[in-house]
Amino acid sequence: MKHKILNDLTLIKPKIKGESDKYSWNFFKHLNKIKDKEIKIYYHTRSYISGEPITFNENEFLIGNVIVVRGVIKSNGGLIGCALSNVLRGGKIEDYWYSNIHNDFYEITDEFFNLYLEKGRCLFDANHNGWLAHDDDRFTTYDKYRICNYCGKRQNKKVEKVCEEVTNWI
Ligand SMILES: [Zn+2]
Repeated sequence: MKHKILNDLTLIKPKIKGESDKYSWNFFKHLNKIKDKEIKIYYHTRSYISGEPITFNENEFLIGNVIVVRGVIKSNGGLIGCALSNVLRGGKIEDYWYSNIHNDFYEITDEFFNLYLEKGRCLFDANHNGWLAHDDDRFTTYDKYRICNYCGKRQNKKVEKVCEEVTNWI
């Protein structure tokens, strides 16, 4: 069964055209473009850096390992799609063919869309110390803490004095 996001893309459509808010405009635009295809999300189970096996974990989410698929080749299980990181960046998106002969990719469509619906772009910045484009509306800040308006995460404020030793020659 299709995930409800794929049946109704307005669920993840940003309020202002061309501007991301909780949800990414570029991701919405891409899904809208390929909505007549068989959209699936796959995760690559090897780290591109170390080659070590990895599993999908929402708290340590490797965005570079996610691909947005618009077709699975029936005969050999090959995947046609593009990297999620490219989709989020926007611009021209080219599709690639990914061999899945060693089963290095596995499907996370439902898990991914459930998390995306709940957390929006925070899924790509779980520790909330990164940078998201158009995120001016992301936090409500109080005296001692702030709340993420996208996913509800609360972060306490910690202020530290930093002493720095500086050498001057006079
Ligand atoms: Zn958040």
